[in-house]
Amino acid sequence: MLPRAQALISEAALTGNLTALARRGGARLLLPVKADAYGHGLEAVARVAARHPDVWGFGVAVPQEAVTLAALGLGKPVLLLTPPALEEVGLLADLGVRLPVASLAEADALPPHARAHLKVDTGMNRLGARPDEAVAVGLRLAERGVLEGAYTHFATADEPDLSFAHEQLSRFRRVLEALPPVLAHAANGGGVLSFGPLPGLALARPGLAAYGYPPAHLRDRARLTPVMTLRARVTHVHAVHPGETVSYGGLWRATRETTVATVGFGYADGYPRGATGRAQVLVAGERRPVLGRICMDQCMVDVTGLEVRPGDWVEAWGADEITVSDVAAWGGTVEYEVLTGVGARVKRVPVPEEVTAGG
Ligand SMILES: *Cc1c(COP(=O)(O)O)cnc(C)c1O
Repeated sequence: MLPRAQALISEAALTGNLTALARRGGARLLLPVKADAYGHGLEAVARVAARHPDVWGFGVAVPQEAVTLAALGLGKPVLLLTPPALEEVGLLADLGVRLPVASLAEADALPPHARAHLKVDTGMNRLGARPDEAVAVGLRLAERGVLEGAYTHFATADEPDLSFAHEQLSRFRRVLEALPPVLAHAANGGGVLSFGPLPGLALARPGLAAYGYPPAHLRDRARLTPVMTLRARVTHVHAVHPGETVSYGGLWRATRETTVATVGFGYADGYPRGATGRAQVLVAGERRPVLGRICMDQCMVDVTGLEVRPGDWVEAWGADEITVSDVAAWGGTVEYEVLTGVGARVKRVPVPEEVTAGG
């Protein structure tokens, strides 16, 4: 079938973002590709990123993502960022997946061929060993010959006030000083853009920024381009007369003759229903309002005065005019949630570098 909604994935944008972030962070990248690469499609993103010299490896959130990635055989390390169940450890270690470790019990449960990254909780209070316990865990891992890395995660690095992030960093450094040399990493996207190079930390883990969305106040720190364009075809064009309403609840009422295009994306495709009443889309390069409630599979757009036919593309977001940041603001949410909400039926279509480079 012809795709209705598609997510174009710009390989040039992704590659450029990786280069810019590695340069800004003075580090190689452990690229987070969790949640289907922030909705962009795990396989397409990982294949492009694996060829990038600044990419050390990949970070995933759940064991199944690690298994899927390992099966692609891209030859780059994969780190699981959350604790596996005990019965998953053997298979993950056999696949070469790097495992997070936060206790002596977890350290002792690893098979001898495993590779571990010590997870230190410096203040996020989500996962990891507290700094006072982390050193003993790290030394046990080193003793067992399985210690490859150590990491922590910032709670506030994407906010303007960096005082707590600095505090977390110094807690992490005190742990590192007590360990043999390891691949250390801490910075998420906000951390990379705020701090720049962190001496002694060889890796960085920028996620959302790698997909083109830095925190708003850090936009000028690196040249980043949104990687995904979400678009769908017009399925129907019709006239609506003054006084008539459009969509569920009759929220929008025409005050003049209006040409309405029905478009094939809705909230099941990831176009947030919460953006109803504020959303705009791009039709033939022009911003046009979405009329009335956003439906599950469709939405309606005011195309009065434009030459629009069924089969034409309408853009929900992309790199140019309307971005995921706009859509997230209209929907009362964040870019992370909009991108990871792109529906399973939206076809991810990689746009090879040569095509975008040529314009
Ligand atoms: C998701 C995640 C990241 C990436 O965070 P961004 O805010 O997207 O840059 C980094 N590290 C860990 C442990 C994560 O879970």
